[in-house]
Amino acid sequence: MRQELLQPVVILNGIGEETANLLKELDIHTINDLINYLPYRYEDFKHKELTEVKHDERVTVEGTVHSAPLIQFYGKKKSRLTFRVLVDRFLITVICFNRPYYKTKLNLNEQITVTGKWDQHRQTITVSELVFGSRPNGHEIEPVYSVKGNLTVKTMRKFIWQSLTKYGDYLENIIPNQLVSKYKLLQRKDTLKLLHHPIDGNSLKQARRTYVYEEFFLFQLKMQALRKVQRNHSQGIAKKINHRQVNNLISSLPFPLTGAQKRVVNEIFDDMSQPYRMNRLLQGDVGSGKTVVATIALYANMIEGYQGALMVPTEILAEQHFESLVKMLTNLDVNVELLTSSVKGKRRKELLERLKNGEIDIVVGTHALIQDEVQFQKLGLVITDEQHRFGVNQRRVLREKGYFPDVLFMTATPIPRTLAITAFGEMDVSIIDEYPAGRKKIETYWVKQEMFDRVLTFVQKEIEKGRQAYVICPLIEESEKLDLQNALDLHSQLSFHFQSICKVGLMHGKLSSAEKDEVMKAFSANEVQILVSTTVVEVGVNVPNSTIMVIYDAERFGLSQLHQLRGRVGRGSEQSYCILVGNPKNEVGKERLRIMTETNDGFELSEKDLELRGPGDFFGKQQSGVPVFKMADMVHDYRILEVARTDAAMLVNSNSFWEDDHYLPLRDYLKDSGIFNSEKLD
Ligand code: ADP
Ligand code: MG
Repeated sequence: MRQELLQPVVILNGIGEETANLLKELDIHTINDLINYLPYRYEDFKHKELTEVKHDERVTVEGTVHSAPLIQFYGKKKSRLTFRVLVDRFLITVICFNRPYYKTKLNLNEQITVTGKWDQHRQTITVSELVFGSRPNGHEIEPVYSVKGNLTVKTMRKFIWQSLTKYGDYLENIIPNQLVSKYKLLQRKDTLKLLHHPIDGNSLKQARRTYVYEEFFLFQLKMQALRKVQRNHSQGIAKKINHRQVNNLISSLPFPLTGAQKRVVNEIFDDMSQPYRMNRLLQGDVGSGKTVVATIALYANMIEGYQGALMVPTEILAEQHFESLVKMLTNLDVNVELLTSSVKGKRRKELLERLKNGEIDIVVGTHALIQDEVQFQKLGLVITDEQHRFGVNQRRVLREKGYFPDVLFMTATPIPRTLAITAFGEMDVSIIDEYPAGRKKIETYWVKQEMFDRVLTFVQKEIEKGRQAYVICPLIEESEKLDLQNALDLHSQLSFHFQSICKVGLMHGKLSSAEKDEVMKAFSANEVQILVSTTVVEVGVNVPNSTIMVIYDAERFGLSQLHQLRGRVGRGSEQSYCILVGNPKNEVGKERLRIMTETNDGFELSEKDLELRGPGDFFGKQQSGVPVFKMADMVHDYRILEVARTDAAMLVNSNSFWEDDHYLPLRDYLKDSGIFNSEKLD
């Protein structure tokens, strides 16, 4: 970057120590920082015809003062000034709060421009800005910046504009020229000038388009470069895939693979047979058949003489997966073992020994599998299920143990494609976007709290048919105590209601894992018919006889979570139901529940969820991992995101990118961004 742009802000007129310190709090130190401090919104002062403005809309009009202002005072500091203004041939009333000084300044017949909220019924404008005379030309759209302390938006505008007029010409294009001309993007300096001072709506749109592309392009450049570097440096094993034997397994399954499963298996095989380490994310909705895919991959890996591990977040799930694997792999001469905390003493020692000397081919367990005491002889493939429940450190742990296995992350939370390619930008993504044939749609209803009695009647009917039900209530950290109490209350209410009919169990996070296991086992064995639970049952649990999922206070859950919960039923041959009980207070809440009743498709839901919640909230606060863009919006600008990703990938995979002087600035950018730190490499 040009030195001129790296000068401190104090070189500008009007900025002294004090202001510089305030700017520092906004992380603005240099001229360049100031120039890149973007408005968070714009104010539109374009004149509109009052006849075309809707009630409560913001409007700017020009008119003449038609009556002397009247002023009322309330208390010490509050006042309300009203006067009449003639706009074209309309006579309207203008209201100004807490600006008593206008009383003496406004003269009859004087021309003014007011901006504010239009009340169509009363024919009034409540003023947010008042200008004497006309607004100056070229200021129809004004940027609004977030400011602090004594800084005002107006001074911010001045500082930024001063930087741009003095130093803006030093801004250099960062996007390669061929891409600038391909997409008819603006020059960088013009882009920034227009973002801070749009001439009109159209120029602002063009500038925004350029800036968004640049943000996505630079981000994807990092991701794609990271992916390339990881591949080049990773000490993977190129495995041969024995298709004949793999096909034996596939044809022994009680069903044909879906098209999506076949495609994904091939993508995984492709990675496994390459000399780099697989680093792949497999997404598929609950019930889309990921476990089968995992089994096939583990089998192919085993035929080549390597051990495999399947890691899941809970012990119950580990047991379930273990059982399905054993079932699928019978008669194929595979040693599958389960390693959980309940494997103890001598048996544990023996099992660890057999892992170490390579007698065990596939081990299923929780993430305890990668703890210190566990040693493998020849670990070739690690698969983790429900990936984002794990910490992100597993890969490092594996590396430090000296293994370089292929890694496949599986997740049942459908992540919208836009998010997947940003949050997991350096990974390869496979998607199972098809359900096994004959799957029954889970009927979903939304009822108000007041109808809970009728819900219970419905539950009773299903129980009498021999089915089971979940009743879920929320447990959210901030209101943990209260929520837990709700679960306890609901449990005693239902126990009482169903006392002569069936058993009601209770499950919540405060139970020890042994207690949880016990509750789950009783429910699995149909010793308990109704399970009241907080969201701990969310992940992967499989009790095919349960056909009803009642979700209490459903408005407090996100769409993805509701969908995960719903996925606990519909696993058997019977028609299943999901009943959402809730009285959402706002439109977003209502919309969510409505969407749930309309679709069973996890990807469709996740796209909607992203729209309703925004990318920052999608993964929850702690584990967001979603990059923050200044202007780009992953949801609305996803087309640009896709294009930028393709362009970035093409570029980093070309030789010229790593050799030509022309790309030196971009290579420097990558170097500065720290992705080449050996820390990140496998
Ligand atoms: P996931 O792990 O994605 O939730 P599973 O692999 O557990 O899904 O599969 C859910 C159920 O569907 C299992 O009972 C499995 O046997 C069955 N299944 C998987 N693939 C198919 C298929 N292609 N055709 C029919 N049933 C299938
Ligand atoms: Mg699963």
